[in-house]
Amino acid sequence: MTTKHYIQVHDLELKNNWDSLSLDDRIVKIEECTVYLKDFYGLKNWKVELKNTKKSLGHCEYNTKTISISRHMKNYSYDENRDVILHEIAHALCTHDDGHGDVWKTCAKDIGCTGNKCANIDIVKLSNYKITCPCLVNNFYRIRLTKKMKQSKCGKCKGLLKIEKIN
Ligand SMILES: [Zn+2]
Ligand SMILES: [Zn+2]
Repeated sequence: MTTKHYIQVHDLELKNNWDSLSLDDRIVKIEECTVYLKDFYGLKNWKVELKNTKKSLGHCEYNTKTISISRHMKNYSYDENRDVILHEIAHALCTHDDGHGDVWKTCAKDIGCTGNKCANIDIVKLSNYKITCPCLVNNFYRIRLTKKMKQSKCGKCKGLLKIEKIN
């Protein structure tokens, strides 16, 4: 991959308009962008799929040659979307064995991705629950609740954890 030189494509008009787009329009654009970028980087034989999952914002499936992006990315900025899309495209340009190693990282940076193992995104936007305790030693966000969380007490103030549904 390192012998190829990629050009960084940026849709500045879309970037500038991102905040004014409706969430539905953003989903359409996310799909369009992913298709455009993967074709641009020579992955014409790869498919793009949008999924409803919160588990991973993007995924690269080598067996079926599919790049999937979560519809929840609609809540994120243009730059965050771009980073997730390019992250998965970089996986598709490398092999499964490359993982998030140096080969992948170099490739990711070559195509304009930050090359971070996990896209640098705000988890709060994805979370369904906010969990706190009376002394606020516990203060975190989760997509799903576990049985343990529902019954847990704070180690410091001994108060029950308070669970708020936020999404
Ligand atoms: Zn990855
Ligand atoms: Zn506490």
